[in-house]
This record gives sequence, structure tokens and C-alpha cells, in this order.
Amino acid sequence: MSTPQLITVLGATGSVGLSTLDVIARHPARYQVFALTGYTRLAELLALCVRHTPQFAVVPTTAAARQLQDDLRVAGLDTRVLVGEGGLCEVSAHPLVDTVLAAIVGAAGLRPTLAAVEAGKKVLLANKEALVMSGALFMQAVRRSGTVLLPLDSEHNAIFQCLPRDYESGLEKVGVRRILLTASGGPFRQTPLAELEHVSPDQACAHPNWSMGRKISVDSASMMNKGLELIEACWLFDTTPARIEVVIHPQSVIHSMVDYVDGSVLAQLGNPDMRTPIAHALAWPERIDSGVAPLDLFSIARLDFEAPDEVRFPCLRLARQAAEAGDSAPAVLNAANEVAVAAFLDKRIRYPEIASMIDEVLNLEPVVAVSELETVFEIDARARTLAEQWLDRNGR
Ligand code: NAD
Ligand code: MG
Repeated sequence: MSTPQLITVLGATGSVGLSTLDVIARHPARYQVFALTGYTRLAELLALCVRHTPQFAVVPTTAAARQLQDDLRVAGLDTRVLVGEGGLCEVSAHPLVDTVLAAIVGAAGLRPTLAAVEAGKKVLLANKEALVMSGALFMQAVRRSGTVLLPLDSEHNAIFQCLPRDYESGLEKVGVRRILLTASGGPFRQTPLAELEHVSPDQACAHPNWSMGRKISVDSASMMNKGLELIEACWLFDTTPARIEVVIHPQSVIHSMVDYVDGSVLAQLGNPDMRTPIAHALAWPERIDSGVAPLDLFSIARLDFEAPDEVRFPCLRLARQAAEAGDSAPAVLNAANEVAVAAFLDKRIRYPEIASMIDEVLNLEPVVAVSELETVFEIDARARTLAEQWLDRNGR
């Protein structure tokens, strides 16, 4: 048997990180954890280190590193603790690493994920915000290094599974008419519009089908998540927003579809459990057990579909506009959304104000061409400042 692949899990303490470690632990002969990173839940990171014995762990501050290093020593482990963004990039690009799982949430994941791409690692991408912010530069880096980039986002993983191997020659060439990007519609799909003023963060995070981190849960409630995924799909599959149709499918059993010119529509189905796309991407092109229960179609009984309502979900419209504008617009959208979601989770703004804030920031920030990563971070910082100014004027 060949030696196990060494894996860095960026964002190991999060929802996707934990699902990944669950799949990895089922296949010790195939996969070994090389590095684990965490940000706030450091006691959990320690427990994960004890369980998976990585060579490296990464935490945000020197104080946290000292504490974790002491705790690891007491636990009898020789895991080395690194600090901050430098540490994240180091464990992403380390010569011993085969695969990097990018599961940090938000803009904080961009540099470490790019470091993995530039070092030619196999990259399994959950951190959609990184791609939304810097799509053109990110995909250039993928092509330059020749790395294998596989989507973990369940929809994109489904689309990837429904495309032929040579899809990179162009979707039109392989006969694709449209991508049908499915969405559950989240917890507020049927909430009376007048009640949306009063919904709480906990209600927004109570997703009907998926268990996820709080930021992506709010994004799913507002359907900004689908908007970010639309942009993500444009980059991953080299297509335009016009070729992507969003379809609300409340059961979350079909994870997305590809519509071909001959009228065939291919779908990928499964239980809503991230371990399926994670196992698919880890083992691709092989298949491994993920621990996910087989799909029971009889208990699901029916599959429903609806068109999304852009009055109910203005964030989806804003994201589509940003996708069509291109250049810096998606980075502005993403930054304003990150500030807005954090403010909503802190109860500084009401749920409908998420969209109002993003709309205003998009209107204030001109669309400019982006040819360097530093420009992306400048745009990101400017959009965050504009969003904070909006909060100072309108927030609590
Ligand atoms: P989460 O909040 O559960 O976990 C986030 C992880 O990122 C944690 O390990 C945290 O320690 C780390 N992190 C947070 N801020 C950081 C910072 N500033 N620097 C370094 N590390 C930081 O989130 P999640 O639900 O696991 O989602 C992670 C990513 O995967 C997001 O981009 C999300 O959109 C994407 N995604 C998640 C799911 C899902 O089912 N949860 C599905 C598809 C895509
Ligand atoms: Mg998704």
C-alpha cells in the first residue's frame, strides 16, 4: 500500500473542517493529517490535535500559541504551533503537504488558500469568499501552477460530477446549455415579508436542511450564499451569470444540475451532508465511504422546485448584478456582506438591512479592474470602511 496523503485542514474547528476530519479518520491508510488550524475554539483545536496528531497547528496570536504549545506538551504531543496568517500560509505551502482543504470562512482564507494553489497543492475549496473576491487572479494562479482545484461546496461539487472530464475545453463545446444551481430557500422561504424585520440571528441560523457555521447560515437565509455561489460557479466552470439559473428546491436532495443541448438534465442527489462532497473531492477520481447514510427516496417522497423571488431575496439580485459587473464588484459585495452579517449576528442591524447596507456600498464604490492581489485587499478594506460608516449612521 502507498503512503498516506498528508493533508492540511485550514479551518479545522469549523463545520466543514470537522466533517473533513470525520471522513479522514475513516481512512487512516489513505489520509493523514499534516496540519490543523483554528481561530477561536482553541480547546477544541487541542482536542483535535490529540485525536489526529498533526505535525503543525496554527492559531491567531502568540499568546494562544504559547498556551496551545504548553497544553500539547502536557498531552505528550510534539505538534509545533505556528502563528497567524504567516503560519497558515506555511502549512498550506509546506513541501510535505499533498492536499489542502480550504475551509476558513470569509476573506481571511484568501492568502492561505492562494499559497496552497501557488505551491501546486491539490486544493479542495470550501472557502467560496476567497474565489469571489479574487476570481480572475485566483484562476490564473490555478492555471499557472497546474494545481488540481476541486469544489467542496455541495452545489459545485454536484455540477463537477455532472460534467464530462473535458469540460475545461469550454461548457459550450461539451454541449452544456445551462447550469441549474439549486438552493433550499433557507428558513425564511415562506415567512411573511412583514415579519422579516423582526427575525433573530438564531432564527436565521436555523437552516432547515444543513448544519453549518453562523456566517454561511445567515448567507443561506438571505440567499447571498446562492449569489456568492453563482459567482463561484462562473469562475470554477468558466461561464457567465446568464448561463446559470437559480432553482429553489426546498428538500436539498438534488445538489445542482447540468442542462445539455439535447434536453438531458443530469443531477447529483444525496442526503444534505457535507461528508459526501468532501469524500468525493478527497478521493477523486476514486470513490470512498463517507459515513453518509444511503438516500432513502421513499421517505423523501417528493422533490419540489420554485423560482426565487428577488423581492424576498434582494441579496440574490445584488450578487447577480455584481457578477455581471465583474472586476472589483464581487469583492465589494463580499466585503460589505461580511460586515453586514457580522453586524446582524451582533444585533446591530435588522435582517432586511443586510441588503440595504450592501446595496449602498455597491453604489458608492466604483467598479475598477483588478490585476494584483494587493488591489483586491485595498478594495476589500475600502468596502469594509464604507460598510462601517453605514453602520455608524444606521446601526444600533
Ligand atoms: P465555521 O464558522 O463553522 O468555521 C470557520 C473556520 O474558519 C473555523 O475553523 C475558524 O476557526 C476559522 N476562522 C474563522 N475566522 C478566521 C480567521 N480570521 N483566520 C483564520 N481562521 C479563521 O464555517 P463553515 O460553515 O465550516 O464554513 C467554512 C467555509 O466553507 C465558508 O467559506 C463557507 O462558505 C464554506 N462552506 C460551508 C459549508 C457548510 O456546510 N458549512 C458548505 C459549503 C461551503
Ligand atoms: Mg453550497
